[in-house]
Amino acid sequence: MSRTRRRALGGRVCGKGHTDKEAAFLAAAWERVQALWAECSDIQRAAAVLEWDQLVNMPAGGAEARGTQLATLRRLAHARLTSGAMAEALADAASDAAADPAWLRAAHRLHDREATVPAELVEERSRAGTAGYMAWAEARAQRSFAVFAPALQRVLDLTRRYADAVGWTGQRYDALLSGHEPGIDAARVRAIFAELTATIVPLVAAIAERPPLSRQPFLQALPRDGQLAAGIDAIAAFGYDFARGRQDFSIHPFSTSFGPGDCRITTRVQDDDFAVGFFATLHEAGHALYEQGLPAAASRGALGEACSTGVHESQSRLWENAVGRSLAFWEWFMPRLRGHLPGRFDAYGAADLYRAANVVRPSAIRVEADEVTYNLHVALRFDLEQRLLSGDLPVADLPAAWNAGMEHLLGVRPVDDLEGVLQDVHWSDGGLGYFPSYTLGNVLSAQWMEQAAAELGDLPGMIRRGGFGPLLGFLHTRIHQRGAGPTPDELAAEVTGRPIDTAPYLRYLREKYGALYGL
Ligand code: ZN
Repeated sequence: MSRTRRRALGGRVCGKGHTDKEAAFLAAAWERVQALWAECSDIQRAAAVLEWDQLVNMPAGGAEARGTQLATLRRLAHARLTSGAMAEALADAASDAAADPAWLRAAHRLHDREATVPAELVEERSRAGTAGYMAWAEARAQRSFAVFAPALQRVLDLTRRYADAVGWTGQRYDALLSGHEPGIDAARVRAIFAELTATIVPLVAAIAERPPLSRQPFLQALPRDGQLAAGIDAIAAFGYDFARGRQDFSIHPFSTSFGPGDCRITTRVQDDDFAVGFFATLHEAGHALYEQGLPAAASRGALGEACSTGVHESQSRLWENAVGRSLAFWEWFMPRLRGHLPGRFDAYGAADLYRAANVVRPSAIRVEADEVTYNLHVALRFDLEQRLLSGDLPVADLPAAWNAGMEHLLGVRPVDDLEGVLQDVHWSDGGLGYFPSYTLGNVLSAQWMEQAAAELGDLPGMIRRGGFGPLLGFLHTRIHQRGAGPTPDELAAEVTGRPIDTAPYLRYLREKYGALYGL
């Protein structure tokens, strides 16, 4: 960006037959659009600070005022992003030779989408989302989908209107997907899930025939301080910079960023299951390492954001699973773990912890699922979302379709709606189109790891010695620093020579779990 900015300040004029005055105005367009964009970014990040505070620190009494404050900031950000001044500056900047085309492309991706949605629909969706969340929470308390159904119907109707406002050519779902994964449509995601399930369903069946692995090493009452210290030790070694981040507690762990200089994570600790807090910490640190690595010079600009939700997820899953659930990791970490929790792991070796971290067992709850069965949970949601959106599946029939799908894909039947269709928050506020990003993240994480191994050499050897620098360096220069420039497929092609590809991930699953379960 500094290169193009210097050219702009040097007073370059556009030679396309404009008058001097017009030319001067156009030459300033690049500066103008960046200034407007930076203001939107500031407003959104200020809202993120308030959200972080709401989830980490805020007393219950603050809820109502905080809701109003957040709604105001979101409205301001949306109004500025879709203002006439922004549209004009974006259009003018296209004729400003100083402008960065990659920046403008990334800006248009977000702006054009938001600008097509009428402000009153944004407002209506926001209100229906709040009502939907409350109805969902009440339905969970009563373990009854019927309590949630009317609110879901309302949310679904508005989601259809939203998708139609955004526009689509293939199927309506495409409009939702493109908000998370630019350039990827539902047909593509369907093909990816077909490839995954064709391998994973028989793999799960084969594993079920083998003697089960034990989670026992994790299931002991452990002091919270020691658990926390272990997580902090691991992510500091990964390269998470505590001078540009911090870890707090929240009910559901999350990460958030207010710019590359302040990328925060939260975790939780469960007294009788070490894995719950530890892997949540590794996962959220993976997200935060991405945010800490985004190009600082592009902060407040259109390129200073993540490439996509799936690419973000690829970073968290790479550190949590590909690294944190590897044998090499536990060989390195075992003595350190014993140091943080003296006397608690003397009876176990690294291989015991490795096996405990990779137990495969079909279960009803997605967020508790292992690496192998996880994508089947997502495949089910992707299928149901499409049918809900198209109208093929009436809302009233959703619980039955859910249970049938669980039985078909995982051989598990939820005991009630709470364990079934009510388990995820996403649909309550209209967040359809989000789930595929989880699986794209898994797929991409394996693509990054294969390429890193090809370029860096013996990755397990490095991990065994606690040398995470080369891997983080690879991710930093090849992925983090690219920000929102490329689409996910373009990024995959840049880094690995191929667009998003399921082969490395399926190889990873077959080799790792084949060895673990003696297949
Ligand atoms: Zn995540």
